[in-house]
Amino acid sequence: MIETLFIRIINVLVLVFSFNQRGEDMIIELLGSGGAIPIPRPLCNCNICKEARIKGVPYSRMGPSVFIHDINLLIDTPEDIVHQINRSNIEDIKYCIYSHWHPDHTMGRRVFEMNHNFRSYLPKDNSTKILIPEGVMPGFRERLGIWNHFEYFKQIGIIETIILSDNSEYKIDNAVIKPIRLKEEYVYGFLIESLSKRVLIIMDELIGWEVPKDLGKVDLAVLPAGVFEFNPITNVRNLPVDTPTLKLECTFLETLHIVDNLNADKIVLSHIEELDKLSYDDLIKVEEIYRKKGIDFKFAYDGMKLEI
Ligand SMILES: [Zn+2]
Ligand SMILES: [Zn+2]
Repeated sequence: MIETLFIRIINVLVLVFSFNQRGEDMIIELLGSGGAIPIPRPLCNCNICKEARIKGVPYSRMGPSVFIHDINLLIDTPEDIVHQINRSNIEDIKYCIYSHWHPDHTMGRRVFEMNHNFRSYLPKDNSTKILIPEGVMPGFRERLGIWNHFEYFKQIGIIETIILSDNSEYKIDNAVIKPIRLKEEYVYGFLIESLSKRVLIIMDELIGWEVPKDLGKVDLAVLPAGVFEFNPITNVRNLPVDTPTLKLECTFLETLHIVDNLNADKIVLSHIEELDKLSYDDLIKVEEIYRKKGIDFKFAYDGMKLEI
């Protein structure tokens, strides 16, 4: 009797301990580190694209997507997400959260159909829960047929949709996901907190955003690198002063200003555009230039795994 009780207590302790472990470990995989256009860009024969075609990762970059292992949360579905998942060791996507409606973040949504057996017509027991912040919903209803497509997925039982209101929290196991509405109000970043770690992930559209005063310290921040108005190695101007892009997009230097205002142990910059014509080797040089100035960050590459 006492022996049985003892074994039960041990089992409970093991369970509690393993839950804590699950809550504390976070493995964040940057599945795709590219921007709106992948590298190599189809039909392009610039040096950056040619090199990426020959060498592959880390020189090549697919569309912007992040996966949080352990809680099985995917962030965004660029058109090449199927290939990104094929080259990873991901076995299940239980949740997917969306940052905004732009095509480079949503056009791969057929990925949710891939684990559906078209011939069985049996009810699904492993549908994906799609988390959509409230400010993302208008774009989903009005653009690209996204909501229509999701209604179809719901009808065949492969997804459920859950709308997250601003200031809400969504719990997955021991982790809490908090949507953060950006200055561009149709776009969200996400704060993901486990029992002891905090991660900020912003996929795109950082322009005008200021770090919220109550954000506190984060262990990791993943941010879009921004548009390179100047070549970051030579400082030669890349874009004319009056180009409309500079009014619409956060620049690399503006991003570094945000980085300066963040209290983050580690910074990773992603969403790297082919148009900026920076190779993987160039970006390593840029990291070094800024490290010498006391500004420490890493550029993302496809498949980069961050254990915190
Ligand atoms: Zn984007
Ligand atoms: Zn190119």
